[in-house]
Amino acid sequence: GGLSDPESGLIIAHYGATIDVESQSGEVYRCHVRSNLPALVTGDQVIWHRDDDGTGVISAVEPRRSILTRPDTRGRLRPVAANVDRIILVVSPAPRTPANLIDRYLVATAHDDILPIILLNKQDLLDQAPEMATELEQYEALGYSTVRASAKEDKGLETIQSLVKTGNSVFVGQSGVGKSSIIDRLLPDEDLKVGQISESTGKGRHTTTTARLYHIPTGGQLIDSPGIREFGLWHTAPEDLDKGFPEIYRFAGTCKFRDCTHTHEPGCRVKQAVEEGDILARRLDSFLSIRDSVDEVTIREL
Ligand code: GDP
Ligand code: ZN
Repeated sequence: GGLSDPESGLIIAHYGATIDVESQSGEVYRCHVRSNLPALVTGDQVIWHRDDDGTGVISAVEPRRSILTRPDTRGRLRPVAANVDRIILVVSPAPRTPANLIDRYLVATAHDDILPIILLNKQDLLDQAPEMATELEQYEALGYSTVRASAKEDKGLETIQSLVKTGNSVFVGQSGVGKSSIIDRLLPDEDLKVGQISESTGKGRHTTTTARLYHIPTGGQLIDSPGIREFGLWHTAPEDLDKGFPEIYRFAGTCKFRDCTHTHEPGCRVKQAVEEGDILARRLDSFLSIRDSVDEVTIREL
């Protein structure tokens, strides 16, 4: 074959067996994948070779910094995006994102190598749920980074731009909080919007629900898809629970019983910490309810 020397590239989209790889000089090549490779996803760094006909062949994948997965219809975890550095959880006063939903998202987004950031959008509507300002401060006290913005009033955009300036970011959050509005401002080019891809580029490009990678003009990359925006509603691994509740985890190790459920046990250090004001009662309630529903939720939302 007429394969060229190996080059490194970046997967920016994939359509079933066909994958778009961006070369180091920024051109996009439609590629096929050698059959011995694992499932590749948007965000993967790959080794590829140009073919005579203008397409390419991917021969290897670089080790991943991180991987977002979701369960398929048989419950097997499938990769949806690789090398995500930052998950920006968008919340808003209207629709009001309930605090226990924020907690659930923080469990879902708890990965060792991914930084979660809480973005309170619709600051202009904060008087509809003023207690969210306090909640945000509580999350800051737990060590989470937070940002306040109003996509409508163009506030906080520069802060968001500087947040996402390096690496790969994704935006997640419930419907209506303003994810599209924020992404539209980060990616002003009409052609780049998710959902308009197939209409704007027309023939030859199949509609895809898989993730796409976009270069943000002010720096950094966005990985986005309708499915990724819903991330957290389908991904809640029981083993991530402790990572989403660092303050509970910190005390749980010193409970009297090793398998303490932190509900009724004598000598429960977690309950004591709640009484002494070191853990918010609301957070423990949230922890217990997420723990009880974790398996059920994972199955229901397949
Ligand atoms: P998504 O479902 O998370 O993508 O949310 P959208 O971006 O579609 O926004 C939902 C609605 O909220 C739209 O009508 C937006 O115009 C509106 N919206 C978005 N950001 C703001 C904001 O900062 N303030 C106000 N008042 N409305 C906003
Ligand atoms: Zn306990």
